Amino acid sequence: MIFRLGDGVEDILHKALPKAFVVTNGPEQIGGKFISGHVRWHADDLLYWDDCYRLAEYKSANSRRFNRLKKLGSYKQWDNGYWCQIQGYMGAINEQHDYDVEECVVIVVNKNDCEIYEEIVPFEKAAYEEIMERAEWLVKLESPPPPTMTASDYRVKNFMDEDDQGVYLGHLTPKQINCRNCRFSRRDFNDDDLKRGRWGCKKHRKVLTFDEQKAGCNDHEWIPELVPATLIDEDEMIYQRDDEQFQNGPDHIPSDRMAWLCRNGWVQDEALEIAEAFSGKVEIL
Ligand code: SF4
Repeated sequence: MIFRLGDGVEDILHKALPKAFVVTNGPEQIGGKFISGHVRWHADDLLYWDDCYRLAEYKSANSRRFNRLKKLGSYKQWDNGYWCQIQGYMGAINEQHDYDVEECVVIVVNKNDCEIYEEIVPFEKAAYEEIMERAEWLVKLESPPPPTMTASDYRVKNFMDEDDQGVYLGHLTPKQINCRNCRFSRRDFNDDDLKRGRWGCKKHRKVLTFDEQKAGCNDHEWIPELVPATLIDEDEMIYQRDDEQFQNGPDHIPSDRMAWLCRNGWVQDEALEIAEAFSGKVEIL
């Protein structure tokens, strides 16, 4: 019940607003794309009264988080990530939709008893520019950055399952291969007009459809930062793990096999032997 209210809170608040104030016509009515379509955004609502455009942002929180917000009295101190999100939306609306949004009406609902917290957060152009620079830096990275949280961080413990923790902390490869975790894939940054967020394959020299990206192919090789070992030969993709060296690739240890091995103490077990005997694959669910 608590989660259902969390999901529906945007719709409930949008419907409760006096219609005379609402410029947009429902959630997801105002949005856009940046950096050849690799960054997409959608704001909750755009409001207008007293000669001022205002973004509206709706959130929900459990009692513990909600009470902390009330005590702090500051959306920014409560959750800097959420604060950056609304700065990003306000700047993006001004830049891409020709409005002049000056502030954001933040409404947070306590999921346990429907108490409401409201705050007006002013737009900070310098913060927006910094956020956009950071977004561009992130999108242009060719490999995942090293983890910034430790295993004991509450976000790692509470919001990631055991397998995701292993991947995030660098102990496991992802479970399944796809083009986005293959070292041959690249984002296309030359699509500024249509902004389709396209990806391509350096090995097969082609643009990849979304379905192709999800499927990957037999030539997949892991992005080295996703392999729980040290890359010691970049040409041959040879890794060192403890006293052992191994090579990733379709003619050596294929990527899907490596995902199985690293979850299995690096032991070639019966499942792998059967898969090999029947030219099949093992799939991690
Ligand atoms: S080699 Fe295969 S898995 Fe890798 S990016 Fe190209 S198509 Fe995708």
